[in-house]
Amino acid sequence: MATKKEKSGVSDDAPRAPEAERSSKALRHLDETFEEWRHEPTARGSAYLGAVLLSLGGLLLGASTFAFARIAAGPWRENAWLLLAFGLVFELAFLIVGGKPDAPLRVGDLGVGRETEGKVQRVAWCDITRISLVTDGVKLETADEPILVGFEQHSSTAARVVAEAKKRIPKRVVIEDDDVAGLGKVQGGARVTAEPPQVTMAVCRATGEALTFEKDVRMCRSCGALYHRNGVPRRCSECSRKLRAA
Ligand SMILES: [Zn+2]
Repeated sequence: MATKKEKSGVSDDAPRAPEAERSSKALRHLDETFEEWRHEPTARGSAYLGAVLLSLGGLLLGASTFAFARIAAGPWRENAWLLLAFGLVFELAFLIVGGKPDAPLRVGDLGVGRETEGKVQRVAWCDITRISLVTDGVKLETADEPILVGFEQHSSTAARVVAEAKKRIPKRVVIEDDDVAGLGKVQGGARVTAEPPQVTMAVCRATGEALTFEKDVRMCRSCGALYHRNGVPRRCSECSRKLRAA
């Protein structure tokens, strides 16, 4: 009976039906919900020192302006050049110490993102070519500038980036297991949803065909590589995950 029922439906060798694709664990549609973790930087050491240097430098430069304008009297006016010099030294020290707080970072389905001026600039996992450990953080190499997830302000983010990358693009992570363990437990951050990626200018990783309509786009669930629904290969060309049956 069961055999009869099966035969009355779609045959086994039929082309991939949209329903089957949607239920695929390996591929996503762009109208699904994308999630990521948002990590705020942790202010420590040089960030506090930087704030002190910036404030002192500003005060001294302000005082020197008054002194030069001959608004201040007595020793202030006589030491205007000294005030200016010390003010500049403190400002220079601030620039060298680099106490500026880092931006919040995002880690999740769409790769690694940095919040810049209210927007999130992301690099997809499939566009990260190598992940390695350097003295001051975890370095993500891309076709453009490398991204540094620094330990000083983003130590928990670094642990999360490496943990996610080990699952999604393991062959591109060149960090020994002991060193991964040394990054500490994956913790912190807030779970948030992310806007689906824009497909403008994107092309199918397998065929090179332009991806014009979002409904035609399929995304590798592991690495975020985009494919045209008619060009999905058996295995992802970026992370080798099996995307569909033969
Ligand atoms: Zn992939």
